[in-house]
Amino acid sequence: MSARIPRLGVLLAVLAFLAPSPAAAAAPELPDQIAAGWKADRIFVYDALRPAFPKSELDRIRATAGTVSFPVYVALLPRTPATRDLDLPTLLQARVGQPGLYLVWTVSDDYWAGTETLIRPGGLKGRDLTRVQLDDQQDNKIVTDRPAPRIVRTIQQAATAYDGRALPAVPAGDLTPERRYDDGLSATDKGDRAAFIGMGVGGVLGFVLVIVLTLRRRDRRSAPRKRGTQSGLTGPVNIWSVRGKADRWIVKAGKTLKRLETQISRTDVSSEVLDRRDDAKARLAAARTLRADESDDLTAPAGAFVLARQAHEAASGAGVRPPCFFNPLHEPGTVQAAWSDETEVPACTSCAKVLERGETPRGFLVWKKSGLLRLDHKAVPYWTLNPKEQPLVATGFGALEDDLTERVSRGDK
Ligand SMILES: [Zn+2]
Repeated sequence: MSARIPRLGVLLAVLAFLAPSPAAAAAPELPDQIAAGWKADRIFVYDALRPAFPKSELDRIRATAGTVSFPVYVALLPRTPATRDLDLPTLLQARVGQPGLYLVWTVSDDYWAGTETLIRPGGLKGRDLTRVQLDDQQDNKIVTDRPAPRIVRTIQQAATAYDGRALPAVPAGDLTPERRYDDGLSATDKGDRAAFIGMGVGGVLGFVLVIVLTLRRRDRRSAPRKRGTQSGLTGPVNIWSVRGKADRWIVKAGKTLKRLETQISRTDVSSEVLDRRDDAKARLAAARTLRADESDDLTAPAGAFVLARQAHEAASGAGVRPPCFFNPLHEPGTVQAAWSDETEVPACTSCAKVLERGETPRGFLVWKKSGLLRLDHKAVPYWTLNPKEQPLVATGFGALEDDLTERVSRGDK
């Protein structure tokens, strides 16, 4: 587990204090306040956040901003409806009127998220920033419990977009422990392996795989339930990190779709492009629906992440790829890998390697309620859930059949 910054606890206390008066941040003059603040310091920290803000985080951001050849403007704010819904980077750039990288990062609970816009000093020079972010294999593996890691990465990505320099590796301390663990790929006990059967249903859909719940031969009694949630190693991942991934891709997909719409409005395009637009739109709408789920159900934001990434793929013309069956948060399932003699599933390259060794990847864990009163919680791979109770995950987040959009619009959950 990466070291947490205890001072963020204080910061959260400050936010809790702020909560009763969200209007403070919603005041229309906030953009003016920030623009004025930037005249003295290009890192603006919201007043109430300032006393508790870790200096080391600011120093890291400042140091990275010093390595690039364009101005970097940063605003660190509490998350309120106003800071969440306004396109602040664009508004702020319009106020300042200078080219540069504009970053607005907001915090709620223990979770930092942000948006950015890059206005290039040299006009349309270099690559698209979103493109660079999508090609960055480490982009979605960076922690969200403090602001500097992702801000530093975004500045580096913008430099790559602007002058083509290579992206440095992300320091190990900035990567989520869940990913570090997953990449280590511990195999599930073979006694726990869930059976998986293929079943032809005919018709145009052809082959549909159905998940069956099997009796577990051995109880994984040693899995410490309580520690699981905190360590992230023995339990499901933190819901905020999944929501963060979903949010980033919803923003990216929205931008890509907007660009496609502009293209469609300006030129004659083929019906194939219009189909892609419709597909992207439907997936993005479904992603937003799932993301709006405020319950503690981990599968909803995971589904939102899968759909938003696919919406981006559809809109960009890259071709929609299925998720990794074992963990929807992994890289897409680009390999058809054999899980057993009869069963093939789309898997990411890491999981495909584990399957090659004859083992089952650890998979995406969720809490399963059990016991007489269903008060007992146990971490289990999602595919061992009863598909009748969890229709959303019945086809592996759409890995086995591309049906997630329809399931969401039908209201399955
Ligand atoms: Zn995988």
